Amino acid sequence: MSRIGVLAIQGDFLEHRQVLERIGTEAPEVRKPKQLDGIDGLIIPGGESTTIVQLMDIYGFREAIREKAHSGMPIWGTCAGMIVLANKLTDHRPDPIKVMDIEVSRNAFGRQVDSFEIDLDIKGIEGPRFHAVFIRAPVVNKIGKAVKVLALLEDGRPVAVRQGKLLATAFHPELTNDARFHELFVRVAKGSA
Ligand code: GLN
Repeated sequence: MSRIGVLAIQGDFLEHRQVLERIGTEAPEVRKPKQLDGIDGLIIPGGESTTIVQLMDIYGFREAIREKAHSGMPIWGTCAGMIVLANKLTDHRPDPIKVMDIEVSRNAFGRQVDSFEIDLDIKGIEGPRFHAVFIRAPVVNKIGKAVKVLALLEDGRPVAVRQGKLLATAFHPELTNDARFHELFVRVAKGSA
């Protein structure tokens, strides 16, 4: 059985843990860098990226997670988690931890469409389109050579990307009843996707 840790310092970590447990995956909360040692993968949840990064720096997560990412730990960031993982933001804050070769813009959909839901085709997920919930969501502006796009908006902007064992989604699979994205991440963590 895999153990997928969920960074539990701010944001909707509880929802991620519930989906993981529903699909038979152990989902310990990660509140201290030491706890990164006992897990097969890590999820950085949605929330407020400035707060998450600030707390990560206070607890010493920045270097610890960077080291794990470089030594091949599977990591998936959702929404604020995508912002945290980026190499570069078009915004002044926060200072992301820079492990994925993507440039991201926060709150990319403006006030009028603060939140919206659409059905997406996602590479690696079989069956009906995936119902994606966007809440004050970021978008990916640029990707590096090693990054693959897993899902796009109709205007061509990427909203789900993968670089080796690192995944990032602008939307929130933890807020629906569809566990297929979490299953995909578990397969990535097991080396079978
Ligand atoms: N807008 C938030 C940020 O910039 C992200 C929103 C979310 O995670 N739902 O951090």
